[in-house]
Amino acid sequence: MQQKEIEKFKQKLEENKKELEKMLKEIAKKEDITPGEWKTKFPDFGEHTPSLDESVDEVEEYSQNLVIENRLDFKLLDIKRALEKIKRGRYGTCEKCGSEISIERLNIIPETKYCTKCALKLNK
Ligand SMILES: [Zn+2]
Repeated sequence: MQQKEIEKFKQKLEENKKELEKMLKEIAKKEDITPGEWKTKFPDFGEHTPSLDESVDEVEEYSQNLVIENRLDFKLLDIKRALEKIKRGRYGTCEKCGSEISIERLNIIPETKYCTKCALKLNK
């Protein structure tokens, strides 16, 4: 892959990373001990004791956030990994079979670790 193209993907990845971190900040707080790990905020009931209905709503919201948070967190890890691969000059290489990942695929998922063939096999 040409340097020019790698730069383009790098920019895209950096943008996605910022966007994800912003979204994560809204639903989770950054864990102080392990950087890069996010914990979903448990809903704040405020001063009053919540009614049963309220509790159910809050717990539901919490579970939903947890699901979203996990998904975002995984994506963020993939993005960081892809940026790391750019630094090492390994960007665009499939981590499974070592072949080149097509530009078309990288355009859609710039943080992908696998080529189309391996991704299908791994169901990723
Ligand atoms: Zn592959």
